[in-house]
Amino acid sequence: MPRKRLPILDRWPLVRQLVARDATGLADTACSARTRTLRPRTEQADRVVRSVCPYCGVGCAQRVYVTGGKIQDIEGDPESPISEGCLCPKGAATTQLVTGDHRARHVLYRRPGGTRWEVLPLDTAMDMVAARVQHTRDRTWQETLDSGQGVQRTLGIAHLGGATLDNEENYLLKKLYTALGMIQVENQARISTVTGWRAVSRSAGSPSSQTTARPRAAAGSTPAVTRAA
Ligand code: SF4
Repeated sequence: MPRKRLPILDRWPLVRQLVARDATGLADTACSARTRTLRPRTEQADRVVRSVCPYCGVGCAQRVYVTGGKIQDIEGDPESPISEGCLCPKGAATTQLVTGDHRARHVLYRRPGGTRWEVLPLDTAMDMVAARVQHTRDRTWQETLDSGQGVQRTLGIAHLGGATLDNEENYLLKKLYTALGMIQVENQARISTVTGWRAVSRSAGSPSSQTTARPRAAAGSTPAVTRAA
């Protein structure tokens, strides 16, 4: 016949631990009655959409929980063979990327000599960018070098991409820039993420960790500097 205990003693975690032989307090005895009533905030979602974190090339998988047509939360996808449900702090904050009220939602423009930002319609801003690209390309176009070697290029425009660009966007961007004659096309991942990559490759034992990075100039490539023409 089970021994009866006073209810007040049952509310004392230490007693529950002793009775359940849970010395570390990491088992069920650590759970209060209130905790047992709590449910995950994602449980009420209407649907779950699978996605990929937009921040970096690791490509951790995400689950986007949607309620009433609005994003309720974004969490790691345990079925991802890459991240197995984990997200780094950037990826874990993806919900704010989409829903944060401090996010800039308009094109802001500060004209030369201006002291304040102006809000521009996106179409106007796109037309201004296109006009500047054409003007700079026309002004700096090189058909040949002084030696007579044909190059058909402009050194007046360079591009520095961000890690949020995906494969498809990068493909289209490089295609466009090559067609424009631009040769200075770079991505921040090769400037900043390379340190993380080297650390990961060392700890993961990649064969590439045996290689030594050489300065790009040694390979005859162009400098990774964004220029304004
Ligand atoms: S930013 Fe973080 S969560 Fe996103 S893909 Fe990279 S490592 Fe994964």
